[in-house]
Amino acid sequence: MREKYLLSCPGCGRTFSDRYTLDCPSGCDALLRTVYAERRLIPRDLPGIFRYKDWLPIEGHLGIDAGAVSYESVAFARELGLSHLTVTFSGYWPERGGRMETCSFKELEAQPTVLRLREKGAGVLQVSSAGNTGRAFCQVSGLTGAPVVVVVPAAAAGRLWTTVPAENVCLITVDGDYSDSITFGREVCTLPGIVPEGGAKNVARRDGMGTVMLDGTLAAGRLPDAYFQAVGSGTGGIAAWEAAERLIADGRFGSRLPALHLSQNLPFVPMVRAWEAGRREIAAEDMPEAGASIARVSADVLTNRHPPWGVRGGVYDALAASGGRMYAVSNDDARSAGRLFEEAEEIDLDPAAAVAVASLVRAVEEGFVEPDEHILLNVTGGGYQRAAEDLDRYPVEPFVRVAAGEAFEGDIRDAVRAWLAEQEVAIRA
Ligand SMILES: *Cc1c(COP(=O)(O)O)cnc(C)c1O
Ligand SMILES: [Zn+2]
Repeated sequence: MREKYLLSCPGCGRTFSDRYTLDCPSGCDALLRTVYAERRLIPRDLPGIFRYKDWLPIEGHLGIDAGAVSYESVAFARELGLSHLTVTFSGYWPERGGRMETCSFKELEAQPTVLRLREKGAGVLQVSSAGNTGRAFCQVSGLTGAPVVVVVPAAAAGRLWTTVPAENVCLITVDGDYSDSITFGREVCTLPGIVPEGGAKNVARRDGMGTVMLDGTLAAGRLPDAYFQAVGSGTGGIAAWEAAERLIADGRFGSRLPALHLSQNLPFVPMVRAWEAGRREIAAEDMPEAGASIARVSADVLTNRHPPWGVRGGVYDALAASGGRMYAVSNDDARSAGRLFEEAEEIDLDPAAAVAVASLVRAVEEGFVEPDEHILLNVTGGGYQRAAEDLDRYPVEPFVRVAAGEAFEGDIRDAVRAWLAEQEVAIRA
């Protein structure tokens, strides 16, 4: 294999070159995977996530120093009676080298996704997001000048800020919920030159998130026995599984897959219910009164209604392969576990990270993990308070505002087309 990597389909087994490919050309219902020529993990002397460049689907790198950082927990580990707890932190925490200034691990996916798209010359990226993903892509756009179309519910527009000016973002707000934004985003991608980010189907997104497993493993010197993360789409869980398989193939870090301990926030816990029922499909009964349930969770980044659950190579397969477990965490448990962590480790958490911490507390109490196991806790977001003190904050201003269910035509289509033409002129210049 002369190329740095190929894509492979776990459905039909075919391998092929990457053309910013999101789906198997034969139409399989499966998540494509990257297969890298380099079988050993060799950290590069590059900033942030690009330290793991050999296992990212990109050729070059960006000059952005924002990767996950890992350390061996002392205070919180003692609190729980654990002897080997590695924390991998994605957020803003300068004392520990954490420089993700939008404070969530969505920056791990945004960086390689933007670069992969640029290298493949595939067009301008479109992202639909209710918050952290959109903010991360706006930030990477601000840092690189890469144009991006972001579609969000109008109510979430306030979450879109950056720490550098982001002048190449076309922000479209939709007067509706997250599903309405996804629908409108899909319409926007009918404009030639705009391509969807692709969610879990995007290998750059998954391999970017997989650097958490790489970093935590290098810090501990071995693969963990158990991996804890809060999930909404579960993409981070899939990514952890894929990265662990690569580390096993490397041969130096252990031969057993870490058990995935994935958590959701009550009362919206569709994957927990499907897992407990042993089902590969998420059924309507797994999301009773979805709208009302979503409104009641403290961590709304965990409320995806269409996670890549049953698809081949998806979350269900990752849990099954690793002997994993799922947790339903109440707001109260998340808050008190989060507080415990914040006091012990002295950093504030994203509400989703507090859900993961609560699942770890429960696992210890119930004996789902042993005190001497090697545990990797993925703290997916945090440091907002520090970031607010230290950094500038630029709100991203809406470019157009549309109603739920509105068609992408007429003036709105013309406005986005004109924006796109300007960006293309700028790219060519
Ligand atoms: C998106 C997000 C998650 C969930 O990630 P998935 O792996 O995509 O389900 C967890 N925590 C934070 C802070 C997030 O932004
Ligand atoms: Zn296939």
